[in-house]
Amino acid sequence: MAEGGSARPSPAVRTRFAPSPSGDLHVGNIRTALYAWAWARHTGGRFVLRIEDTDRSRITDEAIASALEDLRWLGLDWDEGPEIGGDCGPYQQSERLPLYHEWVQRFLSEGTAYHCYCTQEELDAERETQRSKGLPPGYSGRCRTLTAAQVADFEAEARKPVVRFRMPPGTTTVHDTIRGEVVFDHANIPDFVIMRANGYPLYNLAVSVDDALMRITHVVRGDDLLASTPRQIAMYEAMGVPAEDVPVFTHCPYVLGTDGKPLSKRYGSASIEWYRENGYLPEAVVNYLALLGWSPGNDREDLRLDELVELFDLSRVGATPGRLDPKKLDAINGDKIRALGVDELAHRIMPFLQAAGLVAEPVHPDQARLVVAAVPLIQERLTRLTESVDLLAFLFVREGAFTVDPEAAARVLTTDAGPVLSAAYEALAALAVWDRAAIEQALRQVLVEKLGRKPKHAFGPVRVAVTGRRVSPPLFESLELLGAHRTLGRIERALEADVG
Ligand code: GLU
Repeated sequence: MAEGGSARPSPAVRTRFAPSPSGDLHVGNIRTALYAWAWARHTGGRFVLRIEDTDRSRITDEAIASALEDLRWLGLDWDEGPEIGGDCGPYQQSERLPLYHEWVQRFLSEGTAYHCYCTQEELDAERETQRSKGLPPGYSGRCRTLTAAQVADFEAEARKPVVRFRMPPGTTTVHDTIRGEVVFDHANIPDFVIMRANGYPLYNLAVSVDDALMRITHVVRGDDLLASTPRQIAMYEAMGVPAEDVPVFTHCPYVLGTDGKPLSKRYGSASIEWYRENGYLPEAVVNYLALLGWSPGNDREDLRLDELVELFDLSRVGATPGRLDPKKLDAINGDKIRALGVDELAHRIMPFLQAAGLVAEPVHPDQARLVVAAVPLIQERLTRLTESVDLLAFLFVREGAFTVDPEAAARVLTTDAGPVLSAAYEALAALAVWDRAAIEQALRQVLVEKLGRKPKHAFGPVRVAVTGRRVSPPLFESLELLGAHRTLGRIERALEADVG
């Protein structure tokens, strides 16, 4: 610090992602994780992962495990959090209950919180009265100033109190990087419950205690939590957190579906698992999600993770809701697939070929070599990794299980195709060398030059007979990889079917 300077050194950036996993992580959610992560990485700060699981009725261990897997798959590594620990742990709220109890005791003894004995029926009745009078709903503050005698009566009735936070009078200004300064009048913020009668903390208590104790400097989260922020700021004050240590807030607008409506959990393509299973590369998903609400300030759309980290600026996250754009995602995914090395792409498509039963698990070295050899045939045309299954099935399928798509057979393997297949068979059977150039030369010579067929009519029947489909990787290369024996066998079978 400069001598005599009164400013405090700015603390190292600490961001966090605090999911309450009750199902698959949603893209809107993950996008906030990505921004928090990117900001930590951009600034050389730390990214904290915290599981908010105090509502155990909604949250399952499987959902927690799959959230961690989603983050790992996307490459969003955390510096502190579940499985790795850190100085501010534990990082799962259900393991932090004693801490919340300590703070609640302190709030109770200092009068910033109080026991509330109201029953659900009483609260419902209160709400009904407010409604009938056209007043905004909210707790009236009935238990704010109970006398010792009233408390004794409630205790005698065996009522179990909740703990309510006593919202002080005044206003709170939330400084939000997207919304600017948002002023909340406490007159509209009734005292709220921070601990249930069973001793379980509620969100506002747990999140405030944790963000403060974990020294979080930047909170990035969904828009829906903006309204909770003045409550949390009031709790920081009650905890004695200096105003300059209150985090910077970024409340991101919703992500909209292709229909322009906010995403709901039922929306299939909104979960990270869906992207993984449907053949998207994690680096494409990250790139695409980053652009749903942020841009590096020019028209660049293809960003590697390291470039994203370098260019990311929290203050450029915009107020316009991002809208899912499957075409854009496909374009990004295709670009990223084309940018991969051959071995890497082979590695990425392998699980899909294995899941389809085309390649054994663990993979046999011959099959592994064949996958690598086949990659250059499909790399240019893949939009999603899953497409590799259909494109390469003909190469990996057991000969006995090879079939021709009936629709392709009906359209292409007509009687007219008979002479083409016979001539192709003979020309290929006579080849001394089985490679792309020899195959191409032989087929062109007999089918185009001798039979006088247009290339489409010449090669179409061969393609369908050998690959089983009308769309396949480049024909001559495909035949080369398939080998003479299997190629000739398939042409023969097509001839034996009803084309001859
Ligand atoms: N656990 C909360 C949720 O998943 C988010 C908490 C926060 O980011 O403040 O909705």
